[in-house]
Amino acid sequence: MPAISGEKLFMAGTVADALAALADHGPEGAPFAGGTWIMRAPIRRERRAPFYVGLGRIAALNVVDVAADRIRIGACVTHGRLVAQLAGLAPCHGLVTAAGSAANPAIRGMATVGGNLSTWDFPAADLPPALLCLDAEIELGTPGGTERLAIERFLAMRRDLDPATLVTGVMIPRRPVLTGHARLPLRKAGDYPVAIVSLAGVLDRNGLVEDARIAVGSVEASARRWSGLERKLVGHPLDPEEAAALAEAELGAFTGRDGIEAPGWYRVQVLPALVRRAVHAALRGQS
Ligand SMILES: Cc1cc2nc3c(=O)[nH]c(=O)nc-3n(C[C@H](O)[C@H](O)[C@H](O)COP(=O)(O)OP(=O)(O)OC[C@H]3O[C@@H](n4cnc5c(N)ncnc54)[C@H](O)[C@@H]3O)c2cc1C
Repeated sequence: MPAISGEKLFMAGTVADALAALADHGPEGAPFAGGTWIMRAPIRRERRAPFYVGLGRIAALNVVDVAADRIRIGACVTHGRLVAQLAGLAPCHGLVTAAGSAANPAIRGMATVGGNLSTWDFPAADLPPALLCLDAEIELGTPGGTERLAIERFLAMRRDLDPATLVTGVMIPRRPVLTGHARLPLRKAGDYPVAIVSLAGVLDRNGLVEDARIAVGSVEASARRWSGLERKLVGHPLDPEEAAALAEAELGAFTGRDGIEAPGWYRVQVLPALVRRAVHAALRGQS
């Protein structure tokens, strides 16, 4: 772990220790996972917390547990480990692409799943749209016990969570879905994607879409499902061109955010092409 100067760092050994330390320090305390976001705060002129609780040594947060009906990913699992452990497993093709294409290899080796989900001020995160498509649940540790929230609800309230709350894991139900993830990075945007489309589809025995989940990231302030397009896809073959044409007619659902790397209208305009690529990826990955 990199040194933090000026602030205090307590390395917790268990979730209970971490929660107790956070509760003791109130708004002055914050979790420290991979540190990739926290360590760049000074160059962004952002405030760092006076007291950090390091999570990296908590064994329970570092486990990926694969069962027949669900997968649990501990909050401190890095993007790199997620890729290594879930590659080739259904229904993780889209999620593995999301984790494996985020940022760059150095960041992926340190940045954690819990840290990615907790950076509410970063609209271009790859994991939220991929997890939205998988109906993931986020497991939270609080001084009062453990609770689980649907990822939509977690994303809506994460900014306002009590500072003594930890993301402890992510639960993914294993269903027979095809999943894909497509992102558009631009050279001038550095490592950040300007728009992201994740998709999960269930096909019936005639090859028609029975159920679809599509989520869009980086276009607005937080990732969200594209329910208008999901409804339109049902009953159609999962075809990249057809999906892109349906997406074109549903672009009014988004108001793109303007940013230094791309204007809002551009982020919306590229969505049909990303839908086409996400469908291709899902058909290729078949998991
Ligand atoms: C150059 C660069 C490029 C990047 N490009 C991408 C990209 O293309 N796609 C992408 O998805 N991401 C990208 N990221 C973001 C990167 O994924 C995040 O920095 C990372 O996921 C944060 O994880 P971390 O473990 O390092 O969190 P930390 O830096 O340790 O923490 C980040 C925040 O989350 C809080 N936190 C951490 N863990 C928990 C927890 N378990 N419970 C509650 N709160 C917690 C911390 O208190 C802090 O507020 C990029 C980052 C950098 C620096």
